[in-house]
Amino acid sequence: MTQFKSNGILIECIQGNIAEQPDMAAIVNASNAQLRTGGGVAGAIHRGAGPGLAAECREFAPIRPGQAIITGAHRLPNRHVIHCLGPVYGVDEPSDELLASCFRNALKLAEENDVESIAFPAISTGVFGFPLQSAAKIALKTVLDVLPDLARVNHIRFVLFSDVDLQVFAETLSASTKA
Ligand code: ADP
Repeated sequence: MTQFKSNGILIECIQGNIAEQPDMAAIVNASNAQLRTGGGVAGAIHRGAGPGLAAECREFAPIRPGQAIITGAHRLPNRHVIHCLGPVYGVDEPSDELLASCFRNALKLAEENDVESIAFPAISTGVFGFPLQSAAKIALKTVLDVLPDLARVNHIRFVLFSDVDLQVFAETLSASTKA
């Protein structure tokens, strides 16, 4: 299942590029501690945003695993970028709890900044090595647990880079929402 709706809030999983989500108010960056550009998600977002993003990020760095900060989106077609530092799997412990904190903290910032739609990548599942299936379970469980507290956010999108990653998220969404 790639879509789930509860209390007027849509959760969906799609395949795509996180830096190409023009209909979302905010996109989430799987950032590094220094909030600099890099490979993967951070590279795509900083390339799309232009150098103004790195300049705005400088005063917030470094951030800790599980933490999130919010900036403007510069040349990206969104209003905000929310930068999360995911845990490095097997190094930043407890990895599960720190990954859940990323999603909780990003949604808290979205609520505080009047963000109605937010797109997440699969944080920590690239160079940070988190197994995709566990990461999908944590991401979806955390978001589903927070749903009742959301007053502003009404659309949460997971943007997965590959077919296989999308399939894992879609299966996990089905399993997590079974009564
Ligand atoms: P981390 O350092 O948190 O592991 P990465 O950027 O290395 O972050 O990767 C996180 C996930 O995002 C991986 O599953 C990777 O395949 C995926 N990914 C890489 N580039 C993009 C992109 N442009 N849009 C969406 N997902 C992406």
